[in-house]
Amino acid sequence: MTPKNPAKVKAAAAHPARPGEQCQAPAGTWAPVVNRNRCEGKVDCAEVCPHDVFAITRMTDADFAALSFVGKLKATVHGRKTAYTPNADACRACGLCVVACPEKAISLQRVA
Ligand code: SF4
Ligand code: SF4
Repeated sequence: MTPKNPAKVKAAAAHPARPGEQCQAPAGTWAPVVNRNRCEGKVDCAEVCPHDVFAITRMTDADFAALSFVGKLKATVHGRKTAYTPNADACRACGLCVVACPEKAISLQRVA
């Protein structure tokens, strides 16, 4: 589990473009979607998520193969690190990860 970063949580919470439902959504109704062509495997999303949705790990070969040419170059430079969402079912749509991501790689989508 990635330790939380209180300064990043505070900045994300105050961000005017923060989407979602302020953590009021029932779990399982929203989920973050990571654009792997943009994600650089930094940990900002994991540092702000109150429900430990994210795990930063090495990209699977299948996901790497699906990247654009530029995405493959970027991923190679970053050791193929990317954010997966093994606990997406726990997301409460706080929107913090969306505005915390420096690469604008995350969108929140309704799943139910
Ligand atoms: S989704 Fe954004 S914040 Fe999360 S690891 Fe990727 S680049 Fe970093
Ligand atoms: S919107 Fe969901 S995935 Fe993103 S930080 Fe909040 S609980 Fe975590």
